Amino acid sequence: MKQWQRSLAESITSPEDLLHQFDVDPSRFSNVVTRYPMRITPHYLSLIREPFDPIWRQCVPDPIELSKDELVPDPLNEEGLSPVPGLIHRYPDRAVLVVSTACAVYCRFCMRKRKVGCTPSPAIGRMLDDVCRYLSETPAIRDLILSGGDPLLLDDETLEEILERLRSIPHLEIIRIGTRVPVTLPERITTRLCSILKRFHPIYVNTHFNHPAEIVAASAAACAKLSDAGIPLGNQTVLLRGVNDDPAVMKHLMQRLLAIRVRPYYIHQMDLVQGTGHFRTSVSKGIEIMEALRGHTSGLATPYYVIDLPGGKGKVPVLPEYVQRRGDVLLVRNYLGEMVEYRD
Ligand SMILES: *Cc1c(COP(=O)(O)O)cnc(C)c1O
Ligand code: SF4
Repeated sequence: MKQWQRSLAESITSPEDLLHQFDVDPSRFSNVVTRYPMRITPHYLSLIREPFDPIWRQCVPDPIELSKDELVPDPLNEEGLSPVPGLIHRYPDRAVLVVSTACAVYCRFCMRKRKVGCTPSPAIGRMLDDVCRYLSETPAIRDLILSGGDPLLLDDETLEEILERLRSIPHLEIIRIGTRVPVTLPERITTRLCSILKRFHPIYVNTHFNHPAEIVAASAAACAKLSDAGIPLGNQTVLLRGVNDDPAVMKHLMQRLLAIRVRPYYIHQMDLVQGTGHFRTSVSKGIEIMEALRGHTSGLATPYYVIDLPGGKGKVPVLPEYVQRRGDVLLVRNYLGEMVEYRD
């Protein structure tokens, strides 16, 4: 067993395991994990300072996940947009391939909560036959996103097999990998993994930091290894109530990400996913955060704030209103709130 696999095996999977370390009422834990499983790696557990802090909220089950709400398991209609098992094809030139339903840590706010952690991972060989046939017959697809679950929970050999098969399709220009292991299981980013990935360039990795407290020596070192393998790193943050719904926290997170060579890509408004409603914030909170970033810190630290529209209608950026038209004069609001005239 490799070191990262040992760490994964040493993860806690039952809320009662937290009682050794933290003084919380065990009755809080009810039976959430029989519906939505829990896993917290030793690394991620070590980041928790106290119950209900921003790290705890992301990974410790809460009975509110089981409460009845109007939310649905698959609001983005991913299952309906799947031409072959595992593939989600919504946009003309790019698609998502779900290669694993396992993650190092099961985030309580996961947008694929309906299956991540709950359904077995696909049989890769069989799935790849169908997927590669579809991709070969669909030359418009030039960008494929490996997702899950977490693709980097697959072992090196399986990943290599997937990348080899995908690279035999000439019109696939770029391959992206969406992974949270730099944050949750940084020891997974081994020298061997990096040397495999770099054989299949252009590879892009989007990772998923949600709070500045997740940026520590181990996660920074994991990101540095990927960057040193020539892989551009982006970050997708989810706007989460009680975790990062604060302009100062978000600005600090974005600045710290740039300092470890990770470029903020998206801040996601929470999807309307069953079992995650307690994390939702208003859209005006997201706009407030974007106003606190733009102009106040590096443009590089300013991602797009996006809503992924229900039904699979696509991701749309939400911007503060900067421009008002008065005839042929534009009144443009700058980052200080001044209205500046600009002739069209
Ligand atoms: C988010 C997403 C993509 C990628 O969108 P980008 O804006 O290019 O990052 C592609 N397909 C699906 C189904 C998605 O949800
Ligand atoms: S790492 Fe991503 S896919 Fe896995 S549980 Fe967290 S949000 Fe869901």
